[in-house]
Amino acid sequence: MKHMFNHIAIAGLGLIGGSLARDIRRLGLAATITGFGRSPERLKKALEMGIIDAWHTDYSQGIAQADLIIVGTPVSLITQQILEMLPHVKQGAVITDVGSVKTAIIEQVEPMMPQGVFFIGGHPIAGTENSGFESSVDGLFEHRACVLTPTEKTDPHALKKLENFWKAVGANIVCMDIKTHDMIFAGISHLPHIVAFSLVNALTDMENFEKQILQYSAGGFRDFTRIAASDPVMWRDIALMNKDHILNAIGFFEKSLGSLKQSIADGNTSEIEQFFKKSHDTRRAI
Ligand code: NAP
Repeated sequence: MKHMFNHIAIAGLGLIGGSLARDIRRLGLAATITGFGRSPERLKKALEMGIIDAWHTDYSQGIAQADLIIVGTPVSLITQQILEMLPHVKQGAVITDVGSVKTAIIEQVEPMMPQGVFFIGGHPIAGTENSGFESSVDGLFEHRACVLTPTEKTDPHALKKLENFWKAVGANIVCMDIKTHDMIFAGISHLPHIVAFSLVNALTDMENFEKQILQYSAGGFRDFTRIAASDPVMWRDIALMNKDHILNAIGFFEKSLGSLKQSIADGNTSEIEQFFKKSHDTRRAI
């Protein structure tokens, strides 16, 4: 079988990295897959399942053969992990990440790339509120967008290789610059998570409210707050690494909530209805 890559290495075999490893194996995209991580138990499990061929906890072993290296660790670690692996990476290798924040990572990583090693940022728009290799699944990226963030320094040949890889796992490629990415995702992903976390805390802090939440939790509360079960450390890091765009998005949200609060306080029926209608029409149109 002709493989797309001879050897793919994945650093961080969690939900995203593990799901990619499953697809690479299932679709035969690489002859060899090596997993890197900190937890030998999880890496051993992936090996026993035949999803990877080898694993290491140290980049001085095994990464030198990789043609494509995918970094799937939490956003606060991605830069450090790439810098650690660079002395061992071979000429011609393409390195990418899957982090949910791009500017802070790419501005630090790109200037450090040795001649002949290519880095392109990535962010698959797929996932769940669950974490870890145990939560990884086949086909997670099918019919989902994958944002790539090439810069003026990006090698077009390396970009093509990476685009073909994501297309092979079923993703639709969207290219955007790093600042646009962080601004858009502050609004459509980071703000909803922050509001969901905040809503759950607001309700549980209300007097005598906890029992009612549990009793009625099949309704709006359950739908709205699913993402509040997401990993706290991952979201702590995203909040800090995309701080300015997130603060800006929170500001818009506060303004919107404040205006609705005022309309309700005033008993202004037309303003309240208009507010809901605007939102209803936007949501229905998606
Ligand atoms: P995850 O399931 O928690 O996986 C994270 C991986 O990083 C695990 O393999 C973990 O190893 C490893 N890791 C954590 N701390 C480490 C450390 N100190 N040293 C070495 N390895 C470490 O997380 P995920 O949901 O796949 O997210 C991974 C990346 O994808 C993040 O950058 C996130 O922003 C991005 N992303 C997530 C989603 C989503 O919906 N979840 C969607 C798109 C992009 P262990 O197995 O030992 O814990």
